Amino acid sequence: MRTNWAGNLTFSAAEVRRPATVAELRSAVAGSRRAKALGSGHSFSDIADTDGTLIDTSALPPEIDIDTAARTVRVAAGVRYADLAAHLHAHGWALPNMASLPHISVAGSVATGTHGSGDGNGSLATAVSGLDLVTSDGAIHTMSRAADPDTFDGAVVALGALGVVTHLTLDLRPDFAVRQQVRTGLALADAVEHFDAITSAAYSVSLFTDWRGPRFTQVWLKQLADAPAADFPWAEPAEAKLHPVPGVDPVHCTEQFDVPGPWHERLPHFRPGFTPSNGEEIQSEYLVPRSRATAALGALDAMRDTLAPVLQICEIRTIAADRLWLSPAYGRDTVGLHFTWVKDAAAVLAVLGPLEAALAPYGARPHWGKLFTTDPAEIRARYPRMDDFAALVAATDPAGTFSNGFLDRMLRG
Ligand SMILES: Cc1cc2nc3c(=O)[nH]c(=O)nc-3n(C[C@H](O)[C@H](O)[C@H](O)COP(=O)(O)OP(=O)(O)OC[C@H]3O[C@@H](n4cnc5c(N)ncnc54)[C@H](O)[C@@H]3O)c2cc1C
Repeated sequence: MRTNWAGNLTFSAAEVRRPATVAELRSAVAGSRRAKALGSGHSFSDIADTDGTLIDTSALPPEIDIDTAARTVRVAAGVRYADLAAHLHAHGWALPNMASLPHISVAGSVATGTHGSGDGNGSLATAVSGLDLVTSDGAIHTMSRAADPDTFDGAVVALGALGVVTHLTLDLRPDFAVRQQVRTGLALADAVEHFDAITSAAYSVSLFTDWRGPRFTQVWLKQLADAPAADFPWAEPAEAKLHPVPGVDPVHCTEQFDVPGPWHERLPHFRPGFTPSNGEEIQSEYLVPRSRATAALGALDAMRDTLAPVLQICEIRTIAADRLWLSPAYGRDTVGLHFTWVKDAAAVLAVLGPLEAALAPYGARPHWGKLFTTDPAEIRARYPRMDDFAALVAATDPAGTFSNGFLDRMLRG
């Protein structure tokens, strides 16, 4: 039986196909009553599940074509960020940002609004300027930011609902270098009082806490290599290389101690070829408007005793507002409140209700790829373009070939 990366979900697919060409992919989709694309399977929710044909995109030709004049790259959907990033760096190019791990596929990450951190950095999906999509009849539809201004913003973070993406075009920037420093012991009171100064202290900032006290155990500062040293009086530089999850070997992590290096070897926390995070875990994440972030941190602090027993680590990151209809950062500068839980689904589910109730006043949008129990009607109310998205799905996939239990709940439940 096939499971997701975390092993908390066994796919209910009647069959799994692993097409080696786009032609094979098209015929697999056209011949299926229900189908769903699978990227690298790193989602914790049942977003990629189907009772029909699960289409594993990992064997498609790993094309990566850089267009120097347009400053874009056209990449096959199943390519993982680790491979894409190494190729781009080797040719003098870069993506603006990375998630905490480079192990995830480009199309799967974009489909869920996956993000890294940084006040000025949008989610990974904001780099997408075009995509090719196989729809239920096996036809290929090409869409772009320029040619489809009315619908493209709905088709990027699309939860796999429109079809199987075969290629994406991403905006590039010239290669750049980053240095990473970890600091320890940031008081929650300082984080709340100086939130803007702290999150803008570097290109990408992450705050980690186990909520066993009113403090952040670690602060990860990823600074452009040619920028001046961050003025950061609130926490001391770490004395040894650290992993954000207590007790896990930091060999899994990217270089620290301000050693400059290429963007793709500093912006993710975890190195390709090593297990990201702990490996034994479940994750949730709730994205709140930046304007409510410090109040939301107060709400988490107030329920520390509930969170801490099932928590491995909590990470706070910032994401710039975007215009992608189903992006959790749609229309608002955003702060992500991420939870790496112990791998005990029953214990975690018992905490999600109180946690979601505590974050509801802040309009928290759950990460589509992580575990949540929020009432779908409440989620829909938190996305101003949800009705437009449902109409786009109905027009693009009228027979519901790419629907699944997750989408049925989110769009109609
Ligand atoms: C250890 C770990 C760390 C993580 N860190 C972060 C982080 O830093 N930031 C963050 O935001 N998230 C993070 N995540 C969550 C992760 O980024 C998302 O779950 C992401 O969607 C995983 O990509 P994937 O390729 O595994 O997608 P999958 O789980 O395989 O699929 C996700 C969705 O994408 C769709 N999809 C996949 N491929 C295609 C395609 N070709 N065409 C159309 N739809 C497609 C699927 O149908 C499904 O709906 C983390 C997850 C793990 C396990």
